Amino acid sequence: MSELIAAYPWFTERFQHLAKLHADKRLPHALLINGMSGIGKASFAKSFAQYLLCQSPVNGQSCGQCKSCELNAAGSHPDLFLLSPEEEGKQLKVDQVRALGEFIYSTAQQGGYRVVVIEPADSMNIASANALLKMLEEPGADTLILLVTSKMGQVLPTIKSRCQHVECPNPSETEAINWLMAATDLDQEQARSILHINRGAPKEAQKYIDGGLSEHRAQVIRGLADILKQRRSVIEVAQSLQKLDLELVLGWLYSLLSDVARCAACEDADSLRQDDARNMLTAVAKKTDPVKIFKLADKVHEERRAVMLRQNPNKQLLLECVLLEWAGLLK
Ligand SMILES: [Zn+2]
Repeated sequence: MSELIAAYPWFTERFQHLAKLHADKRLPHALLINGMSGIGKASFAKSFAQYLLCQSPVNGQSCGQCKSCELNAAGSHPDLFLLSPEEEGKQLKVDQVRALGEFIYSTAQQGGYRVVVIEPADSMNIASANALLKMLEEPGADTLILLVTSKMGQVLPTIKSRCQHVECPNPSETEAINWLMAATDLDQEQARSILHINRGAPKEAQKYIDGGLSEHRAQVIRGLADILKQRRSVIEVAQSLQKLDLELVLGWLYSLLSDVARCAACEDADSLRQDDARNMLTAVAKKTDPVKIFKLADKVHEERRAVMLRQNPNKQLLLECVLLEWAGLLK
């Protein structure tokens, strides 16, 4: 197994399955790799690409030593094409997809496979998806297109129907903790706590640490507490949170509410997973009607979905609306 896959043990089975398909000459032309965000799907796709391109694989693993593996390690393999939006969070441009055509219909320079990794596959609009369709249908021999997504609902149906789907499993809690400890200098308890905040997704947790998001998170929790204690108004708190990433804030709020709901339903404070807001969540769980919590959690979920679908809402208004209901939980 390549080093990359050794680092993500939860992908081992999928990797071996694909390697077997390849050995049996049954590997399709296009794979749509789907799974929760932040678990390493793109690394998995690149690792499988490296394996396909390796000139002397050993026991279903890339060797790490041949010319091809060296080129891959240097990020300059001529038969590997990585396609992502020019800016994170933006759409893949139709010109970028067209440039892929030149690659797909040329001869492999190292004489083996040609591999394309498109990530995220949900960043294609109708024009760029259309440009890709023909390549998906007739990519030529020994060509594999790997499309990676964590937002399957946003991948266009025309793309979906032309790919074989690979569903990725989530890491177990132990696997995720071990990964995060190896990637950072956190101890086990810190790693567990940060993973709970980040839905158990190790790469998301790493981003949380590297991006200094704990400060943003603290702002959100402080704001929620201030509203309950009537230290600041809903409008003031909404203003203070305006500059933060709305999708992230709503995601946190949703997890916090899910925690409160779980705690209220089983009347057990130990069921709380978000350690950094324990006191506030316990208090809310004790005093609130669970129906109200579920209603607000649903609303937050819906609003977050709308934000993910890029329906640019009025941030201040949306935050006020949600925070007003949060304030209402204790009334
Ligand atoms: Zn090799």
